[in-house]
Amino acid sequence: MAATLPTLFLSHGSPMHALQPGAVRGVWENLGRTLPPPKAILIASAHWETDFPALTGAEKPETIHDFYGFPQPLYAIQYPAMGSPELAFRSISLLKEAGLNAKEDPVRGLDHGAWSPLLYMYPKADVPVVQVSIQTALGPKHHVELGRALAPLAGEGVLILGSGHMTHNLRERRNGAPAPYAGEFQDWVKQRIERRALGELADYRRLTPHGVRAHPTDEHFLPLFVALGAAGENYRAERLYDGIEMGSLAMDAYRFN
Ligand code: ZN
Repeated sequence: MAATLPTLFLSHGSPMHALQPGAVRGVWENLGRTLPPPKAILIASAHWETDFPALTGAEKPETIHDFYGFPQPLYAIQYPAMGSPELAFRSISLLKEAGLNAKEDPVRGLDHGAWSPLLYMYPKADVPVVQVSIQTALGPKHHVELGRALAPLAGEGVLILGSGHMTHNLRERRNGAPAPYAGEFQDWVKQRIERRALGELADYRRLTPHGVRAHPTDEHFLPLFVALGAAGENYRAERLYDGIEMGSLAMDAYRFN
């Protein structure tokens, strides 16, 4: 029987992190080295938004360069992991059992929210990868349900990973010291993650004055809820990283055991 894997939430940074990951590199590399080897990886990335949950069904998902105006070497990166139509199919069944209408997307590849951390976690690209889309219009609670529905996969050797950002206000990027609100938002979230207060977390836009500022739009925060939902009711949380880049982009990484 496969080991039950933890679930993860990673802040993927700007596309440039694929070339220059900076301080978070060690965290990503260490995860790949120390986690039990997964049979496959299922990633919810902030960069794939759909109306209904969709799963990549391609045998060999292409590497999507879903960004504009970056240096050429970034466009040359390939992450040649195989897909897993089997895992896509199994995920769709689990989602349907939970009453969530899900479908396969046979064409969609992997976006940088997925392959940027994977380049460092699994540099040989030798673990099959499937992406699941997020439904930004449906908000955090829907993503907890999505994660809950997929939770059995963690006991089947699948590494479930949410790839987004702890704070993501691109208009406030700047050089210099981190903006205090970003750190306060990190702390607010951490406290609630640790006491498993998912209801409060889901209501973050109303309950913390920094919620809307940290996430002018929801999509980079939603993968956290997938990871939390997939971790089950009694997870233990471990924050692996809490650096803030460009003044306001918190790069938190969490492991949920
Ligand atoms: Zn992003």
